[in-house]
Amino acid sequence: MTATTPLYDTYMRAPLRFERGEGVWLIAEDGSRYLDFAAGVAVNSLGHAHPHLVEALKAQAEKVWHLSNLYEVPGQESLARRLTAVTFADRVFFTNSGAEALECAIKTARRYHYARGNPEKFHVITFEGAFHGRTIATIAAGGQQKYIEGFGPKAPGFYQVPFGDIAAVKDAITDETAAILIEPIQGEGGIRPVTKEFMQELRALCDEFGLLLILDEVQSGVGRTGKLFAYEWAGIRPDIMAVAKGIGGGFPLGACLATEEAAASMVAGTHGSTYGGNPLAMAVGNAVLDVILADGFLEQVRDVALVFRQGLASLKDRFPDVIEDIRGDGLMLGIKAKGPSADLLKAIRAEKLLAVPAGETGRRLRPPLTVTAAEAREGLARIERAAEAVRSSSGTAAA
Ligand SMILES: *Cc1c(COP(=O)(O)O)cnc(C)c1O
Repeated sequence: MTATTPLYDTYMRAPLRFERGEGVWLIAEDGSRYLDFAAGVAVNSLGHAHPHLVEALKAQAEKVWHLSNLYEVPGQESLARRLTAVTFADRVFFTNSGAEALECAIKTARRYHYARGNPEKFHVITFEGAFHGRTIATIAAGGQQKYIEGFGPKAPGFYQVPFGDIAAVKDAITDETAAILIEPIQGEGGIRPVTKEFMQELRALCDEFGLLLILDEVQSGVGRTGKLFAYEWAGIRPDIMAVAKGIGGGFPLGACLATEEAAASMVAGTHGSTYGGNPLAMAVGNAVLDVILADGFLEQVRDVALVFRQGLASLKDRFPDVIEDIRGDGLMLGIKAKGPSADLLKAIRAEKLLAVPAGETGRRLRPPLTVTAAEAREGLARIERAAEAVRSSSGTAAA
């Protein structure tokens, strides 16, 4: 049999081919311009071809591309120093992806208890609807059958409890529990923010039972919610945190952050990565932080997010037959379609606006953090025209 493509069929790809990007715009091979509010699923945090990132990558490319972790890598130390200065963390391990950052986080938590003479404490409590990546361990952590099915026995030690149910978390804690792992905003699970109170209760439970609190801020981190990390909204501090996506601005980069205490048993030889902390990735990561940590940047994100949020809320009011709900925080937003999500997706794409599918009924909006209020309004105008198109094609009259 001849395949139509030599690639694995693991993705349902849209028939769009982009050649280059400029800020919030992607330009297709045929020259048409799309407003990119998908941003590589929250990866292109500073949009496309940001001059400061391009410059940093080029400058590093002319020096050295790769050094193994057998040597000191100055870019790693500077990026780690900057990350620990602005977070709860004291230690950083660099990875190439979000799933690898979570693998490191899970290993760190298990090793912590092992080193204290409690090797039986390796269980991790996670939440229904979670997404933590596609490795054997992280599909078990996410617990979603559609990702686990067919890949052998589910990796042991992961227990899902209903989202937002603190009593269920408490019930699930046993003598074998090592940690609680949660996304401050579920990205895949229909964009469900965790309340501030819930985060505080999780922190209190972890303190009470000697568990480590692991946050998955792969999507919610690095400015996406208008704070550098989403946990800051809840006024708590985790013990371990996985970061990726936005931190690399499009270059493969992830990081596992931990407190001194949590990371203490991750000694020489316990973990490693060939490419983790690669000089090219470090140069870009440092350049991303230059922009995001600059005075006023996160304030601007919060201002634009407000414009966006209000615009979407007013569209929901005007198109209740098309838009059922608006969800999310900051520039991590979701639109829940009233009818078949495919109709809204098609209409949005016809308006040359890119969004990310989420579940059966949702569209996720993840514009670059550099999006201006004017660009946000342009996006809202396109969503409005898409909603009108869905309404007129479904024949429902306006109220
Ligand atoms: C994308 C994502 C991951 C996985 O990251 P990869 O880089 O694809 O391995 C994990 N957790 C969350 C919350 C994500 O959004």
